[in-house]
Formats: sequence, C-alpha cells, structure tokens
Amino acid sequence: MKATIIGGGIAGLSSAWFLAADGWEVTVLEKGDLSDNCSFGNMGYLSPSHFVPLAQPGIVSQGFWWMFDVKSPFYVRPSLHPDLLRWGWKFMRAGTQSHVDRSARPLTELLLLSKQLTADWQHSGQMSFEYTEHGCIMYYQTAHTEREELENARVATDLGLKTEIIDREQAQRIEPDMRPDVRGGVWFKDDAHLHPNSLMRQLPLLLEQRGVRIIRQAQVTGFSKENKTIRSVRYRDAQGEHQITDSDVVVLAAGSWSPQIAKMAGEYLPLMPGKGYSMTIDTDRQRLRIPCILLEAKVALTPWRTQLRIGSTMEIGPINDRILFPRVQGILEAAPKFLPGLVEDPAFRQLADLEALKRYLREKVWFGFRPVSADGLPYIGFAKKTDNLLMATGHAMLGLSLGAGTGKLIAEMAGGKPLSVGVEAFDPRRC
Ligand SMILES: Cc1cc2nc3c(=O)[nH]c(=O)nc-3n(C[C@H](O)[C@H](O)[C@H](O)COP(=O)(O)OP(=O)(O)OC[C@H]3O[C@@H](n4cnc5c(N)ncnc54)[C@H](O)[C@@H]3O)c2cc1C
Repeated sequence: MKATIIGGGIAGLSSAWFLAADGWEVTVLEKGDLSDNCSFGNMGYLSPSHFVPLAQPGIVSQGFWWMFDVKSPFYVRPSLHPDLLRWGWKFMRAGTQSHVDRSARPLTELLLLSKQLTADWQHSGQMSFEYTEHGCIMYYQTAHTEREELENARVATDLGLKTEIIDREQAQRIEPDMRPDVRGGVWFKDDAHLHPNSLMRQLPLLLEQRGVRIIRQAQVTGFSKENKTIRSVRYRDAQGEHQITDSDVVVLAAGSWSPQIAKMAGEYLPLMPGKGYSMTIDTDRQRLRIPCILLEAKVALTPWRTQLRIGSTMEIGPINDRILFPRVQGILEAAPKFLPGLVEDPAFRQLADLEALKRYLREKVWFGFRPVSADGLPYIGFAKKTDNLLMATGHAMLGLSLGAGTGKLIAEMAGGKPLSVGVEAFDPRRC
C-alpha cells in the first residue's frame, strides 16, 4: 500500500512514522529542505493543560480589542481578504462555551495519547530530544486572571489531569533564581516539554533509515483526480515537473499552506496562518527550572539544558517574512515583569538590548506560522469530496503536542483500523 504525504513538519513526519510502522510504502514531499518550519522553533511544550480550543469566548471578545494593538499577544492584521473574513466569521461563531465543553474531553484524550507516543520515541533510545516531564506553570498577576485559571484548573481536575495551585511564596521557592513577581500559579503536572529542533532534525533521518522516501525541495503543485479519487500528485523540484501515481492515500500535512493545496483537490479548508515569534538564548547556568506561561502577557518560557527560549504571540494574517518589531519588543518587555531575575542573565540582557536587536533581527528572532483552524480544533481525517485524501493539519498552537497522536490516527484511518481515541470533533468534513 502506498502513501504520499505532503509536508515535512511534525504532522507529516509523524504520519510517515506510523504509516511506515504499519508496513506502508511512504513518500514525503517537502518544499523546503527540512532545516526549518513551524515545528522547529516552537516552545517545545506537550500540553495536556491546553484542552480549551483556541476558539473560546474569552479570546473572541478580547481579540476584538487586541486587534487594534500591534503589541498585543493576539493580533489580527486587519484586512478585507475574503479568506480572512470567512475564517473570522467561523472563528467568532465557534467561540462559545458549549464548543469549549464539547471539545475538552476529545482534545484531552488526544493530547495524552500523543504525549505518551512522543515519550515512547525518546524512551526507545533511537532519538534523544530532552523529553522532560516537569509540567508547566501558568503564572498570574491579577485577581481576574487568577479566578479564570483556577476555574481552568477545576475543569482540568474533572478531566483527570493533575494540577497544583501554588501561591506567591511557593512560586518563589520553585524558581529561586527568578523569584516570580506573581500572585501565584497553577502547575499542570501532566505537561511535558522537549527540544523541538532536536526532534525535528532526528525524525527525518530515522524515517529514511526505515525506508521512507523523503523528497526535499519538492513543491506540490496539483493533483489529477478521477471521480473522487486522487490518481496522481504533481510536484516541482529543481529538475522540473514530476508526478507520483497510484497512491492509495494522500496525506495533506502542509501546515499553514494546506488550504491552497486542499483547493487544488477541490476541497475547502478554513485555516489561517498564525505567526508567532521565539528567541533562544544560550546560557551556561540555567536559571529557570520549570517551563511556564505568563498568563497576562501570553508569553511562554522553556528551559533546556543549555538554552532558554522565550516566545509566543499570535498574529493572524498572510504568510510573509516580515518581523513586526513592536511584537518582539512586547515579548521582551513582558517577561521580566513576571520574572525579574531574567535581567540578571547576561544573555537575556544582551537580547533585550532593543537597539542591538534591531540590527540583528533576522538572526535573533525566529518565526513560524501556526496552522489555525476556524474552530481551534485540528483537522484529522478524510476529506469531504476526495475519497483517498486524509487531512492532518489545523493544529494551531498544539501541533507539537498533538503531532505523534495525529500520525497514529492517520495510520489507523488509512488502514481502516480501530481508532485509539474518538475523532468526531476533529473530522475535517465539519467545515
Ligand atoms: C512561537 C510558537 C510557539 C509554539 N509553541 C508550541 C508548543 O510549545 N507546543 C505545541 O504543541 N505547539 C506549539 N506551536 C505550534 C506548532 O509549532 C505548530 O502547530 C506545528 O509546528 C505545525 O506543524 P505542521 O506539521 O502542521 O506544520 P509545519 O511545521 O509548518 O510543516 C508544514 C510543512 O509543509 C511544507 N509545505 C507547505 N506547502 C508545501 C507544498 N506545496 N509542497 C510540499 N511541502 C509543502 C512546509 O514547507 C512545511 O515544512 C508553536 C508555534 C509557534 C509559532
């Protein structure tokens, strides 16, 4: 049985992994060289704590005001482009409490499955990517955010997740070098983290050792369809135009580029790119112990053995390589307000020197495009009008957390096997 996968991010490579494990002959087509995509420079969280889909009542009302503030954590670049308007309308409509309530359990099940599968990769000894189960702490500074987060923790407990509420003194004991300047936080003990760049560098090599064919610099340009079946996938590389024929399944895992490719197959996929930034500093002495999210600022920090990454913000808009300096500045200004100890780190001080940063913006600031679905849930499953097309995209801020689980489900669906978790909520035919 032959599978062709479009896209070599975490969704595509995970799908390749589990399809190959089930005996499929797998080809991955990747327009880049697999040295960077959204799956590299992210924060590395595996987050069962994020069981609330992005389309939620809070973000919709908040997002409207944030839209006008270029420094805000969630920014929608104003535009009258029909794709944005259609996506925005669906996103607003999906942001209801009942949607959140319906989505929490299936999302949690997939998040936990995916975390286990990712841990298996590390524990198998074939890959090493600093997988660590230290949880993640959500810090708050205001009473309003505290109330919201405690309610979130209550729901998490109902879903079977382990949480611990910590006060200001405990926070300061947990991070003696940083002494968080907060009211307190919620420690989500089921969360884990890893070094995504390491994972993404090793995964293709291991796949190739297992017989997966990965064609780099190969941009998919179209399909030949017969009735409701894709007969061939066309792609272009430096040598010219080619096609792959007779794939039993085609997996669309092209991240933020997926809607255009879906359209080539006659499918509609409401999805917008959500640009996010991260900055990574090398440090001889790691001062942060536990990954954390600074809730009011929506800034995240991840410590690894010799690196610290600071990142986030969500900028809904077209794909381009512009770095909006005020947004980067927003991240760098917000972090020390929660963690004053950061400014004692020479590497952070150097990064936060804004005049110098402006000169080296391209070298110091990484950005990636999260594939943001219209209801904040991923698209995993068969397409509406094409019998042999499977979608594996739309993971928004949870692509790494859901990557391995998505790959497992794709292989199960392709092989007509029983599914590891319920997938109704993720069915792409809901669009
Ligand atoms: C700042 C930031 C922090 C984040 N932190 C986290 C986190 O901590 N935890 C988490 O779970 N998620 C996080 N995310 C989200 C996560 O990174 C994404 O959801 C995930 O990487 C998406 O993976 P993907 O495989 O769908 O897409 P991508 O990684 O973008 O891969 C898609 C691939 O498809 C290729 N492609 C596109 N078009 C074509 C074509 N025509 N032909 C061939 N190939 C094509 C692209 O070149 C690309 O390599 C973060 C994102 C950002 C930006």
